[in-house]
Amino acid sequence: MTGVEILTAGAGDKAWSFLIAGEERQFQGNAGYEDVVEESYSYDSTVGNHLRVSVGDLVVVRSGREALGVGYVEALEVLPDQEKLRSRCPGCGSTGFKERTTERPRYRCSPCARTFEEPIVETLQVTSYRAHYGGTWQPLEGCLDKAQLNALSLSKSDQQSIKAMDRERTLEAVASRGVRLPRQRGASTEDRRHPLELPGGRRRTTAAARRGQDAFRKALVRQYGFICAVTGAAPAEVLEAAHLRPFARTERHRVEEGLMLRSDIHRLFDSGLLTIAPGLVVRIAPSLAGHPLYNALDGSRLHIAQDAPVDHEAIAEHHAVTVATW
Ligand SMILES: [Zn+2]
Repeated sequence: MTGVEILTAGAGDKAWSFLIAGEERQFQGNAGYEDVVEESYSYDSTVGNHLRVSVGDLVVVRSGREALGVGYVEALEVLPDQEKLRSRCPGCGSTGFKERTTERPRYRCSPCARTFEEPIVETLQVTSYRAHYGGTWQPLEGCLDKAQLNALSLSKSDQQSIKAMDRERTLEAVASRGVRLPRQRGASTEDRRHPLELPGGRRRTTAAARRGQDAFRKALVRQYGFICAVTGAAPAEVLEAAHLRPFARTERHRVEEGLMLRSDIHRLFDSGLLTIAPGLVVRIAPSLAGHPLYNALDGSRLHIAQDAPVDHEAIAEHHAVTVATW
């Protein structure tokens, strides 16, 4: 590979959202490693705003529906003279046609309604870019949805892959969801160029994807963000969706019957060593008096809004049953 430029400094005063759009993520002509959502994002010079992204910019990675995560651009790879294939409708030249799964001819163009078997394929010379942000990445797991992201966007267009966002308001929005970004760091890029691997060869992504699949957790993340109801903001990795009533008894997943709890607090709650008194005040079992870290939580108020949709009856039940054992 020749002419690869790696930028590690920039103005860094802007904010963007990057759209992850399935097949668009195919990256042509590069050294052959894929994008991993949590690590980097690739785009090319056919994409609007491609020249405006710089190191230090804030980026929110989004799917068509919600925010997946946030980070700062730590390094920017620039790969000039890459080849990219683009298919067009032989009738009107549009790229807006779809492959049909059962009908023939294979393609149908939505703009001109023509059907055809072979599109016109052209080769474009493009500059490719890869923005790295993995060292500052914080998962958002949908705690901001499409409407909330649109409200933070500086552009109303839905079509853009790279959309300008209001940096200050975006930082405020993620902070209010309990997300704590690290300080931006200028990266030495060599260690940024491969997806982060955990011991045992797993990627960090696998665990994140699994967490995100749980509907109950998703609903609670949307409601409370990454804030443990007992201890406050905490990393996504240690936050769990806790049932106020034993799950086996109800088999229901109501937001009202759940709280986001840090995993150790969740354990204490399920073990009857921590409960919540009426008035949403934390109570710690007398048997934990020798553990100052936990004992200090006794008497503190829950970190949830006054009008949060929480089932006070379920909390009262847990409290009554639990303190009876103390
Ligand atoms: Zn057409």
